[in-house]
Amino acid sequence: MTPEAEVWPNILNEIQRRVRQQQFETWFRSVKLRACSPETLTLSVPNSFHHHWLERRYLETIRGAALAVLGTTPRVELVVEEGPEARAAAPQPLPPSPTESSQRAHYPRDWAARLNSNYRFSNFVVGPSNALAHAAALAIAENPGSAYNPLFLHGGVGLGKTHLIQAITHRLLDSRADLKILYIPCESFMNHFIASVQNGERGEFREVYRGLDALLLDDIHFLSRGTREATQEEFFHTFNALYNAGKQIVLSSDCAPREMTRLEERLVSRFKWGLVARLDPPSYETRVAILRKKAEMRGRRFPDEALQFIAENIDTNIRDLEGAVNKVIAYAALTNKPIDLELLQHALRDVLERVATSVTMDDIIRVVTAEYRVKLAELQSKRRSQSIALPRQVAMYLARSLTRHSLEEIGGYFGGRDHSTVMHACDKIASLMEKDPSMAATIEHLTNRIRAR
Ligand code: ADP
Ligand code: MG
Repeated sequence: MTPEAEVWPNILNEIQRRVRQQQFETWFRSVKLRACSPETLTLSVPNSFHHHWLERRYLETIRGAALAVLGTTPRVELVVEEGPEARAAAPQPLPPSPTESSQRAHYPRDWAARLNSNYRFSNFVVGPSNALAHAAALAIAENPGSAYNPLFLHGGVGLGKTHLIQAITHRLLDSRADLKILYIPCESFMNHFIASVQNGERGEFREVYRGLDALLLDDIHFLSRGTREATQEEFFHTFNALYNAGKQIVLSSDCAPREMTRLEERLVSRFKWGLVARLDPPSYETRVAILRKKAEMRGRRFPDEALQFIAENIDTNIRDLEGAVNKVIAYAALTNKPIDLELLQHALRDVLERVATSVTMDDIIRVVTAEYRVKLAELQSKRRSQSIALPRQVAMYLARSLTRHSLEEIGGYFGGRDHSTVMHACDKIASLMEKDPSMAATIEHLTNRIRAR
């Protein structure tokens, strides 16, 4: 395969993760990779309007995606495709933005996410870290509504929640044509609800969701991050209606039910009625097996020493393992070299650097106390004045994002606070960063200083 053919699907994948589905379809489906080197990406686009739009809106997105795949940030050159068809093409009208009310709240094509065809049971590697979740998912796919209800899957990012929940969906869609099955990310569910309220279509909304035989709701932690109580309320009633009718509910979340502190207690307690299964980071053996599988799915065989090298160095999550496989394949194709240790060192240098400089709690404390001129003892004290509370929250946020300590561990470190306090601190800083660019800049600056230590 040419380097272009190897690299482009990966870059597209990365782009797809960064933009809305509709934007992706409109602006990226028709883009082709003409040439590729670590320095330059040459993309061809169908017409000059497209050229203009990509240049104005999406250059950083493309470069970021390229960085994730190639490990370098190439220059992006856009060229308009030659050919009669392309020349004749008139500028296209802008696609409607997804929030425009012209988009009626109809079900389900415009809201339900498309399933990833790779997220099937046959591609899911089972190990001790995910065996329970996998077994429960299989049981549900065989016997929806009667095995475990609801099934609540939780675990950190990149550990396979979406893969498993979609695997159940695929299996149900393949085997049970008689059932109405819906997989939907929680954010889309919430947007759908809000749109249906605005459009006076609440009745239809209820009809659709309460008429399902299986509802698979991904990333339910979004419910607790927003302040949309009406959406929580609606979800509560949807849940009850389905549950009481013996319909299957599957939920995924990045935290355990008890950590969803901003959710109403009556909802949280329902999450525990069925089975709660946690996905943990994979063990070394499972990492090797996953890497082998991922390479195989790309039509490759990595030498054992390569699999072992990656598994030893990357122990965060499965998305990172997959990213490493993609990088290695792209790098080998670009340089036309065999996959050996030397190539791995080059292809994965940024990942390896990050591993070498893993952050400790002390690093964070040193940088935060210097920045805010406070003492560690103050951060650990019960004082709640703003001059202490803010740096404490910042430190908690940084600990959560830069280390692998659990909420409990972080809370313990800051004077025995509980996990919900840490969670609240993280939410608060995240929302400040969204509203206030100077907060975002401070966090970035602190992060860089901590990483530089
Ligand atoms: P989450 O939803 O928990 O953040 P995903 O389900 O999106 O994580 O998984 C991240 C990537 O890792 C996906 O590409 C997925 O296919 C892959 N993955 C996760 N768990 C496994 C597994 N057990 N076997 C194979 N691939 C996995
Ligand atoms: Mg997910």
